[in-house]
Amino acid sequence: MSMTILKKKTGYALGITLFVIGIIMLGLVLWKFWDAGVFSSPDILSALSAELWVVHTDIALGMGLKLVHYSILGVVLLLVGGIILVARREKIQVVEEVTALLECPRARCKHQWEEPLGKEQLKSMGYPQVRTLSRHKCPKCAKFIRPKIVTTRT
Ligand SMILES: [Zn+2]
Repeated sequence: MSMTILKKKTGYALGITLFVIGIIMLGLVLWKFWDAGVFSSPDILSALSAELWVVHTDIALGMGLKLVHYSILGVVLLLVGGIILVARREKIQVVEEVTALLECPRARCKHQWEEPLGKEQLKSMGYPQVRTLSRHKCPKCAKFIRPKIVTTRT
């Protein structure tokens, strides 16, 4: 395994971990809100904001942590994790791209053109057994067609 792949995987795992912790924290907040009956309160907004500042001993961790801290931290973790995941994904796509020669399936057109495609995308659609792409606009006849992949090159 090369160093770059290892780095990519580490970043991906970190992104997912942060994302999951963020979701768990926000889930905990939601559950506490639910538990306190906030959602059945006649004035949900003020019940929510009051509940944010209540110290629940079970989640305070001896540091006086309140739901407001969990909410902020949860959102921050979600954002950071999400940004890491998106950044990693873009990098992988740039690294693993192939140039595909596509062909319009319309008998009167049969126009061929090249387009960059992600390796992962090709793999997930079942290439090379499956050779038709999802709906594209043909650059020549301007019809929406399902282009055939003639060849691919890296
Ligand atoms: Zn065409």
